[in-house]
Amino acid sequence: MTDERQMRDFEARDDAEKLAFLEHTWCDNCQQANLGMTDPVEYVLKGIVFIEGRCRQCGQPVVTELTDDDF
Ligand SMILES: [Zn+2]
Repeated sequence: MTDERQMRDFEARDDAEKLAFLEHTWCDNCQQANLGMTDPVEYVLKGIVFIEGRCRQCGQPVVTELTDDDF
């Protein structure tokens, strides 16, 4: 296990899955769920998969942490 981010290919996911991840977000800045994100990137850090993008509402970074249930 490493502290380095390992990039993964978000675009390799199927369209329904991508759409779900892009819609189901939590923005700390807006304090609101499911505002959506743009510019998603996917990476693994410490064995956890993250999808990071920008809030469609305010443009601040939003991160979705994938638990095992999401795989
Ligand atoms: Zn926001």
